[in-house]
Amino acid sequence: MHDTIVFTRGVPPTDAFPTAQIAECLATAVESDAAVVLQYGQQPGYAPLRALLAAEYGVNDNEIMVANGSLQLQDLLAAHLVRPGATVLTEQPSYDRAITTFRRRGARVVGIPLERDGLDVTRLEAEVKRQTPAFLYTVPDFQNPAGVTTSLEKRRAILEIADRYGFWVIEDIPYRLLRYRGDSVPMMRAINPDRVITITSFSKLLSPGMRVGYMVAPSSLAAAVTKEGENTYLSPVLPTQAAVAEFIRRGWMAPNIERLKELYRPRWEAMMSAVRRYLKGVVASEPDGGFFVSVTLPADANTRNLVARAKEIGLVLTEGQAFFADPDEGPMPDGERFVRLPFCAVTPEQIDEGMRRLASLL
Ligand code: PMP
Repeated sequence: MHDTIVFTRGVPPTDAFPTAQIAECLATAVESDAAVVLQYGQQPGYAPLRALLAAEYGVNDNEIMVANGSLQLQDLLAAHLVRPGATVLTEQPSYDRAITTFRRRGARVVGIPLERDGLDVTRLEAEVKRQTPAFLYTVPDFQNPAGVTTSLEKRRAILEIADRYGFWVIEDIPYRLLRYRGDSVPMMRAINPDRVITITSFSKLLSPGMRVGYMVAPSSLAAAVTKEGENTYLSPVLPTQAAVAEFIRRGWMAPNIERLKELYRPRWEAMMSAVRRYLKGVVASEPDGGFFVSVTLPADANTRNLVARAKEIGLVLTEGQAFFADPDEGPMPDGERFVRLPFCAVTPEQIDEGMRRLASLL
């Protein structure tokens, strides 16, 4: 067992892709609607896909924008909402690329410590009092990177603050449908649709390479962000959007999500039991779904050392700092001691062996 084990990237394994079905849907989409999908146009996204998503969310078509992946929507939203000197709040830790994207659009990004049931609401309010942010960015279900799900109580509290002080909440929910146990918590949109911009993606449900992500937002905001998109790429990539629409129309989405859960559940179970077996006394998240478990190393440990030592014994880990907007803040993991462990692209055997190796270093 000297194979290298990689606990770094949160990407689906190749066998997660419904390749033959996607190929069929792409062919049908291009053949049946060539005049639209091979042409410029449809700037807010492929109209039939928007209609399907609008029906699913119970909104109007003009409240849906589909773009080339959800990260691009975060970027276009930030381009529209962040004014010079503006603050953007994130959980701490948060999705590293979101932090980078918001900064590149000129935001001062402030991290609000993440607790086991969502961000610290008292700290949120204190920060908001100091300066009303352009928006709060949250990943409320099976968060990347920590694996935490925000409780209903905290979702309500966050939205109450957002309403009182007047700022947007962006809920980013790419992992939401990959739940391995328990009941789902209502979306933030369901609590207050007037304050919430929902962003999600087919990257984890179909394929990241198709680059199809979408946003649900008030129509005026969707129109403004569409304009940002049009000035960036003229048209989004339409053939893959049309293939997603075809996949949904054929009734293949729900069974595909079930298949993915069957694929990932044993990996999640292996990770949870390995954490219990090998990392006694180490603080770990207990996700109910998604791709990630995270651990906080003991006070004397440091991920920089750990990453180097792990490499020597065939274990690839990522340093935690990039997930922290303020590396020195927070009671839960601080960046120096935080390790994200994605479990979906590794087999149960690799998970067990990888965690055994990790424990041997601690
Ligand atoms: N948000 C989160 C929380 C993610 O984990 C990811 C992918 N790792 C993205 C957004 C980006 O997804 P997409 O492929 O749709 O751009």
